[in-house]
Amino acid sequence: MASGAQLPLLPAASEWKLLDERERGTAFISIASRAVLNSPATTRMDFWSVNPYVGCEFGCTYCYARDTHRYAVERETARAETDGAESPLAGLALLPAWLAFERRILVKRGAGITLAQTLDPARLEGSTLTIGTATDPYQPAERRFRITRGILEALTAYRGLSIHVITKSPLVLRDIDLFRRLTERGSLRVNISLITLDARLARRLETRSPVPSARIRALERLGAAGIPTGLFIAPVLPGITDGLDALDRLFAAARRAGAGYVMGSPLRLGPAARARFLPHLEREFPRLAARYRRHYARAVAAPAEYRRALAERVGALRARYGFPPGE
Ligand code: SF4
Repeated sequence: MASGAQLPLLPAASEWKLLDERERGTAFISIASRAVLNSPATTRMDFWSVNPYVGCEFGCTYCYARDTHRYAVERETARAETDGAESPLAGLALLPAWLAFERRILVKRGAGITLAQTLDPARLEGSTLTIGTATDPYQPAERRFRITRGILEALTAYRGLSIHVITKSPLVLRDIDLFRRLTERGSLRVNISLITLDARLARRLETRSPVPSARIRALERLGAAGIPTGLFIAPVLPGITDGLDALDRLFAAARRAGAGYVMGSPLRLGPAARARFLPHLEREFPRLAARYRRHYARAVAAPAEYRRALAERVGALRARYGFPPGE
């Protein structure tokens, strides 16, 4: 595969199309994917990433990616202005940033082709490529648009890549054939994200995500198909999902489902995420509202002492269930 190949000419912004519109007002808008790879320098994460969509229909109340959506919409709008064209969201009702994240989903048309034309495997050497850091690559729209599948197909042309996928959705099982090929050609891990096994609690926190039992079944089925898997307990919500018993049950489920490792990390709240989550917390968990407001009004990350205590709890549970430390 040629690296550094020329990007295809961008379609005019006027070619942005409304792909679909759901009854509750969620619109799917096609955007041309000029460059789909995010470098560690741009994201300040220590790995490369690809997001097939901007926004996520699952609409978890705590989702930090709401802020990423705001930046992407601002960027696309500025681009359109430079091109003398309309914003991709023109003609749609204006929504606050926190709501636009789950109702105005940008679909990166042709992302797989763009990736095949721009990926230079040498630049990724010693690093991983993670699919789904700011969206769920298997949200319901993927069933129709197949952008994630296109990206995976493009990646099968390379050898020696280290690929991670993160999702909450059993739709991930559709791509087992590609995961097998990627495992043969390099290393691949599929990470299932789950913050609680309590279905009622999950529904209070995650508006439209798949039920916990479906995610554990997906973990089992991926493992049975020979795909390396991990469980991501992220974000851990202080005072809501961080109880020792609740975390213990998640670790036990991960062990039974054949996961190779478990990760746990605490809640982060940027401005758009805060605008969604804090009012929700006040309604659903009023006892905790003052504590959250006190801390997250000033900071994006959880307090350092909380992060330390959680890391110790996760470390002890890894040891109890025989998972590797520090993964
Ligand atoms: S599934 Fe992931 S990306 Fe989508 S809303 Fe939930 S936390 Fe955010």
